Amino acid sequence: MRTGLVTDPLFLRHHTGPGHPERPERLPAVLKGLEGLDLVAVAPRDATRGELEGGHEGRYIDAVRRAVEAGARELDADTTVSKDSYAAAVRAAGAALALGEAWLDGRIEAGFAAVRPPGHHAGPARAMGFCLFNNVAILARFLTARGKRVSILDWDVHHGNGTQEIFQSDPSVRHMDLHQYPLWPMTGLREDRGAGNLWNIPMPPGSGDREYLKAFDEEVLPWLEDGEPDVLLVSCGFDAHERDPLADQRLSTEAFALFTKRIARQPVLSLLEGGYDLDAIRASARAHVEALIGA
Ligand SMILES: [Zn+2]
Repeated sequence: MRTGLVTDPLFLRHHTGPGHPERPERLPAVLKGLEGLDLVAVAPRDATRGELEGGHEGRYIDAVRRAVEAGARELDADTTVSKDSYAAAVRAAGAALALGEAWLDGRIEAGFAAVRPPGHHAGPARAMGFCLFNNVAILARFLTARGKRVSILDWDVHHGNGTQEIFQSDPSVRHMDLHQYPLWPMTGLREDRGAGNLWNIPMPPGSGDREYLKAFDEEVLPWLEDGEPDVLLVSCGFDAHERDPLADQRLSTEAFALFTKRIARQPVLSLLEGGYDLDAIRASARAHVEALIGA
């Protein structure tokens, strides 16, 4: 597959403060992992105000901009910001859109967006869990507006509660989420079905490759087949890796290649979410993107 990569040095200027797990060093670790792979460089751009409104209320977008301009240091207890954070978040959403445009134009058949801040906890009117704007939701709305059938698969170890909130009454986008439960943010129960378009798969702490691959074979693949999406968007966190400090799952690096091979029956556009051990994200990003190329 002709596979695109979009990233931007601006993402390094989103500073989260000493000791914060979602730190700038994550980005070079991921990019180091992708070195030498045959990737098509996709140029990033900023998301427009109208595009951001695909995921968020206008007053929230304004509130984030004003808070950052006023020198705010946090938007909620976990979501810390610095001077360039608004610009980085607008560029992260825009980078995801640029990847979508490259796919629509036929320049790429699959793609990976190495972006930060991440997005899947950001709700319609709320920053949360290191996330300012919901990159995957904004991309999904952009693609559905162009007549594409879109499904979102979120395998970040935390529940994509922001994505769920954005789509819970919009059946035009299907969202499946595998996450450790119990674990922060303590949402994502099986009975949460939204408008019939949400599927939550809580995974008990200690789940490893065997348990996840069983869930893929029994639930993810049939779901994918039923939805027949034109494109699958992946909220790609690497924090279910056994080395990750924020969760208790036991995935190997190779698991991210196995997941990717299983789901690559249609185009896949994958967006970086979490993953906080630098060695694990370097190796896992390589396993994932290598499998995208080879699909
Ligand atoms: Zn996470």
